[in-house]
Amino acid sequence: MSINTSRIFVKPKKSLGQNFLIDDNIAKKIVASLSLSTQDVIVEIGPGEGALTKFIIEKVSRLIAVEIDSVVAAELMRKFSCEKLEVINKDILDLKFSELTDKGEKKIRLVGNIPYYLTSEILFNTIDNRSYISDFTVMIQREVAQRIAAKRGTKSYGILSLLTQFYGKPEILFNVSANCFYPKPTVTSAVVRIVFYDELPYSVDEDLFRLIVRTTFGKRRKTLRNGLKFLPFDEDVVQKIIGSIDFPLEKRPEELTVEEFVDLTNKITQIIENG
Ligand code: SAM
Repeated sequence: MSINTSRIFVKPKKSLGQNFLIDDNIAKKIVASLSLSTQDVIVEIGPGEGALTKFIIEKVSRLIAVEIDSVVAAELMRKFSCEKLEVINKDILDLKFSELTDKGEKKIRLVGNIPYYLTSEILFNTIDNRSYISDFTVMIQREVAQRIAAKRGTKSYGILSLLTQFYGKPEILFNVSANCFYPKPTVTSAVVRIVFYDELPYSVDEDLFRLIVRTTFGKRRKTLRNGLKFLPFDEDVVQKIIGSIDFPLEKRPEELTVEEFVDLTNKITQIIENG
């Protein structure tokens, strides 16, 4: 391990999830996994004191680092001041990705060791902005990483797995010990990469797909027959779906693959459209 706490210059703020990466070997391993090219435009979420920034900046011609903490952002600008680096002092959830890429320009590559309390929000915000993003390499809690990459039928399989795997291909790259951070978090971390599809490989009503996944997993222990009763539709529409659909409703949501949820959604769409 190559630990270096000497560069920590601010008192880490728990409220901003500031657990700084202090192991340069892990930082290098993350950056190496990106196989960066000088053409890549990188957006880094929460650069903090620059643990990843300093290795990324060596390899690309444009790096946009988005940091919510103004003291940390100012220090980062002072420390790494160069033309290639733009530091934006902002909440990542307020960033307009559309303003960072010109039409026709390559998509952004998103990277970050993110505050763990914001993992779901950042993930869903990234999914919503995926038309501007080619891939997302992110350090998160190992348990959440396992949920993202989980296979059908496992305990970790749920909304996060389904929605991520609907929009792209997630892969856990490696785990990272809590000893690699300052202050030391209570959990083990993992680095995950999600490569988003350029074109969705499914033809389906996306909003309805998301609604069905959320509704049925909201009642995870129930069969689809019972879970679908909680769809926010008129009673007679729900009854018609349950009464006439050609789908094995005795299954539970965790038994269904993405493709099977797509099939279920398309069959429900047909029933709704046929009145
Ligand atoms: N990348 C650095 C590293 O690896 O050492 C810092 C990682 S630390 C876990 C998370 C960073 O995200 C902190 O610098 C924190 O201030 C910043 N942060 C927290 N909430 C944020 C938000 N909503 N938008 C942008 N940055 C945020």
